[in-house]
Amino acid sequence: MKISDILSRSERPFPSIEIVPPLKGISKEELIASIAPFMDFHPPYINVTCHRDEVEYRPEADGSYTRHTVRRRISETAVCAVIQARFDTEVVPHLIGAGMTRERMESQLQDLRFMGIENVLALRGDCLAGEKRFTPEPGGYRYASELVEDIRRFESKQGSTFCIGVGAYPEKHFEAPNLEMDIQNLKRKVDAGADYIITQMFFDNAVFYAFRDKCRSAGINVPIIPGLKPLSTARQVEALPEAFSLDIPLALASEMRAHADDKEACYTIGTRWCAAQCADLLRHEVPAVHFYTMGRADNIVTILKECF
Ligand code: FAD
Repeated sequence: MKISDILSRSERPFPSIEIVPPLKGISKEELIASIAPFMDFHPPYINVTCHRDEVEYRPEADGSYTRHTVRRRISETAVCAVIQARFDTEVVPHLIGAGMTRERMESQLQDLRFMGIENVLALRGDCLAGEKRFTPEPGGYRYASELVEDIRRFESKQGSTFCIGVGAYPEKHFEAPNLEMDIQNLKRKVDAGADYIITQMFFDNAVFYAFRDKCRSAGINVPIIPGLKPLSTARQVEALPEAFSLDIPLALASEMRAHADDKEACYTIGTRWCAAQCADLLRHEVPAVHFYTMGRADNIVTILKECF
């Protein structure tokens, strides 16, 4: 079923889960065991992130270097196939334009269609480590809006449709000059055919509500699903702002820092904060809440128990 149909038919907000494909070497059973704790809460779909191949330059005996492409994780397509076979839920593979040609993207979409997958999250992706600015493949995708357009073009050839989600940033994408222009660019993705939006994680709901109001004023009328992640270590107080260009509110950052030597306390503080955020969002007309699991289950299970 398409996520757009799940959203329009659901009478109350529901949780959805995002998982990161495991590193190579993990068995199928271990993957299933890591997802199983979430299934008691019946998430109608599970998102599976997509990771760009890394590039390594290895020294040769003659002093030259050769370029190698390295994939560290199981592919999102293989993970989706395992989830489809084992659990009664939809899967939403992420598609990233970065590093992809249009021909490879079309083949990827054909594979997803073959697997009976009707949903994708369309993203631009990021630079490779060491690159200063994003560079598309020759003839590839500069922006996620171009990927959305291409998926719609592919469908018109194939005669079947995907439900397309796109990403958004309540605190602004780090490359955008200001939030207003970022929201205009978000609207381009919706105008190109995106059906709904999932936000980057945030830790202050007021930021999300203000962002949602601005989107509505800009004429973006598709569902906007908030994304949440509980902090689990004091280290994340610095690491997440650096990685995702977001703010950690003073009260949360101070409490985590004050307990930096106590792992258990930090875990509980992060979980409690996220549960309070989730409960508040559910009182403010969100269609669903999306959880970034990043390999952790028990903190999110605690929040799901409390809120759903
Ligand atoms: P875009 O929408 O293309 O925006 C990128 C930048 O370009 C923004 O600053 C935007 O304002 C600007 N822009 C857009 N269109 C135009 C235009 N026409 N003219 C000028 N400027 C423009 N990354 C992964 O690698 N794998 C994942 O699985 C993954 N999952 C994610 C899930 C979610 C919910 C989110 C929010 C992000 C995810 N990301 C993932 C990260 C994402 O790939 C990066 O944040 C990336 O830098 C931007 O992707 P985007 O799709 O938002 O890009």
